Amino acid sequence: MGDDALFVHEMGHLFGAVDYPPGNPLYDLDTTYSYKYDTRTDAIDPANRARIMKNKYRLLW
Ligand SMILES: [Zn+2]
Repeated sequence: MGDDALFVHEMGHLFGAVDYPPGNPLYDLDTTYSYKYDTRTDAIDPANRARIMKNKYRLLW
């Protein structure tokens, strides 16, 4: 899972996804954006999914 999960994680950042570091209320959520699970799952939490979908047609370059 590791590298694939990290790829999903980084791609999501390009579309506005944010990280949940230790101390963040969502840190314990099973999502690739929690630093606790970042390389252990490719699940994306609803808040970040909404951010990504909102920006999915954004021009990147
Ligand atoms: Zn990140």
